[in-house]
Amino acid sequence: MSVAPAGAKDTRKNLIGLTREELAAEIAAIGAEPFRARQLWHWLYHRGATDFAVMTTLAKSFRAELDAHYRVERPGIARGQVSSDGTRKWLLHFADGQEAECVHIPEEDRGTLCVSSQVGCTLNCRFCHTGTQLLVRNLGAGEIVGQIMLARDQLGEWPSPKDDRQLTNIVMMGMGEPLYNYDNVAKAIKIAMDGEGLSISKRKITLSTAGVVPMIRQCGAELGVNLAISLHATNDELRDVLVPLNKKYPLAELLQACREYPGAHNARRITFEYVMLKDVNDSVAEARELVRLLAGIPAKVNLIPFNPWPGAPYECSSDEAIKKFSDVIFEAGYSAPVRTPRGRDIFAACGQLKSDSVKKRARERAAEAAVS
Ligand code: SAH
Repeated sequence: MSVAPAGAKDTRKNLIGLTREELAAEIAAIGAEPFRARQLWHWLYHRGATDFAVMTTLAKSFRAELDAHYRVERPGIARGQVSSDGTRKWLLHFADGQEAECVHIPEEDRGTLCVSSQVGCTLNCRFCHTGTQLLVRNLGAGEIVGQIMLARDQLGEWPSPKDDRQLTNIVMMGMGEPLYNYDNVAKAIKIAMDGEGLSISKRKITLSTAGVVPMIRQCGAELGVNLAISLHATNDELRDVLVPLNKKYPLAELLQACREYPGAHNARRITFEYVMLKDVNDSVAEARELVRLLAGIPAKVNLIPFNPWPGAPYECSSDEAIKKFSDVIFEAGYSAPVRTPRGRDIFAACGQLKSDSVKKRARERAAEAAVS
């Protein structure tokens, strides 16, 4: 299903993405009393209202005043797909025409939303399709928290339910490097955690990073969300190739930042993601080395079968290699689930939906140019 893109021509300021303090300042600027900001927050983030007209606890004249100055906007949906296992993928369309992806993964006892933090990515990890996309920009706080709100719209999950939610967990694991857009990501996460709004606890939020070491410290101190590290290699030589950011922040520094991450006790372990690349990083010796590296860190390991894309320089490891690798991790006392691919019947690698859409539009433009 497609939803009209966010209001590109609407010059009113979007209220989504403002912190409580910023919202209060806006309200004060149009002469309303401070408690109105709290009521407005409730409508926006607890009730999910997108139209001031329905905000019946606010005086009619105030609603009209709000409508004159502000809008309440989510990203638009350029394309939506639902897989047979219930996984949904949305190609988001932002007001400036840029696109990114967002995925909802339902499971028996929870539902996880994979949220993007940037259009494209600057990291150029060798196996990642998003890194092949040239254009990069940070998403604003409203565009990030707006993904959660859009998912709630699509799942029919307003007002914010206390129990039995279809959307329980957030993973900052979509397109982009969240710690390279820290301010906007932090703002969006703080809004998501607010108990009088979306009310998603920090225990249910995981931020995944390729290893921006100084920002890991700040993230731990300010947000205290769960941490996931895209590790993918057990020595600097290989990691420099797979995750070039490693040249700036090598393994020893990265693992030290993990050891220092607050609340890293048994109930809140750090997740280490490890993409399984055939004959590249999948030997039993490397599994043993991984165990050695993780000593002293409360950790779990997510083994991710490589999701191929056209022109990718790697292949996925065999089931047998993955099993052997996971046995070594498991025998060392770590949980080592193989993250079963979801929605594979229709989805390709993260970022491909966007690439396809960009290519399609380029073809359309070329066709238009040819006839004019
Ligand atoms: N920049 C952040 C978050 C985005 S990537 C980070 O690096 O953690 C989210 C996860 O998907 C990362 O672990 C990434 O390495 C992995 N990933 C990217 N492309 C993949 C592919 N083709 N197959 C399997 N996993 C992939």
